[in-house]
Amino acid sequence: MAKKQIGRREFIISGSVAAGVLAVAGVGVKYLDISHSGEQLRQDFLRPPGAIGEVEFMYGCIKCGLCVQICPVQAIKLAGAHEGLSYGTPYIDVREQPCDFSCDALQCVETCPTAVLNFEQFKDAGALAVEKASQEPGVDLSKVNPFEVQKVAMKEAVLMGKAHINKNTCLAHQRKGFKGISRGTDFEGIYRAPDSKFAYATPLKDKEFDREICNLCVTECPIGESAIVFVPGRGSGKLHPRVLEGCTGCGVCVMVCPTEKPSIVVEPIKS
Ligand code: SF4
Ligand code: SF4
Ligand code: SF4
Repeated sequence: MAKKQIGRREFIISGSVAAGVLAVAGVGVKYLDISHSGEQLRQDFLRPPGAIGEVEFMYGCIKCGLCVQICPVQAIKLAGAHEGLSYGTPYIDVREQPCDFSCDALQCVETCPTAVLNFEQFKDAGALAVEKASQEPGVDLSKVNPFEVQKVAMKEAVLMGKAHINKNTCLAHQRKGFKGISRGTDFEGIYRAPDSKFAYATPLKDKEFDREICNLCVTECPIGESAIVFVPGRGSGKLHPRVLEGCTGCGVCVMVCPTEKPSIVVEPIKS
C-alpha cells in the first residue's frame, strides 16, 4: 500500500514537472517559429536516443548534462559556445564515439529530467516484447528472461538516424578487403563488439580484422541482420552491405569503417 502511495505522489510530481517543461517549451517553440531562427538550428546534430523534435528539444533541454554523465561509453557531448542556439545541448559524434547500447538500459533517456529524451516509447516497447514472449504458444516460462527480452526490444526501438553507404568509397563495393586495426592504434573509441566475450565496451584498437571483402559495418553492428546485411548486388552478384529498416542510427558502423573518410554515415532523423 505504502509503495502504491509513493508511486502516485512521484507520478503527480513528475507529471507537474513535465507539464511545466512542455509549457515553457511551447512558448519557446512559438518564439522560434515567430523569429524564424529555427533556420539556425543544427538539424545535422545526432541527438541521443529518444529525442523529441528538434525545435521542441531545443526549448525543453535544460542543458543539465545528466545524459552526458550517465553514458558508460561517453558517447554524448554538449555542444560548444560556437554552436549558437544549440550551445550546451547534447549530441553524438558517431565517428569518434557512437552509442553502442552497452548500458543495456538507455540510461541517458531514463535519467533525462525533462523528458526531451522520452523514455515512454522504450518502456512500452520493452513491456510489449515481454508480454509477447511469455504468450508464445508452448513457451517454457522458466526460460524467458524478461530483462533480456526488454533490453533487446528497447534498443531495437531506438531511431536516432539512418545509415547510408557511399558506394564510391566503400571497400566492398570496390571488391576490396581489409586487414588490420580499422582506425589505427591511436584511436580511442570503444564499443562492445557482437563477438566480444566481455559484458562491457572495449577499445576498437584492440581488435584486428582480416576480411577478404570488407564487411566491418555489417559484423560489428549491435542490432544485427534487421539493420544491415551483406548481400549480393542485383546484376553484379558482388557482395556489399545494405542498410535495412531496423537500423537505429547508432553509428557503430561509422566508427569502425576503415576508409579515411567513412564510407557509411548516419543521417539524423528528427521526429
Ligand atoms: S538529460 Fe535531458 S535535459 Fe539534461 S542535457 Fe540531457 S537531454 Fe538535456
Ligand atoms: S566498413 Fe566501410 S568500407 Fe567496409 S563495407 Fe562497410 S561501408 Fe564499406
Ligand atoms: S547499420 Fe547498425 S551499426 Fe550502423 S547505424 Fe544502423 S544499427 Fe547502427
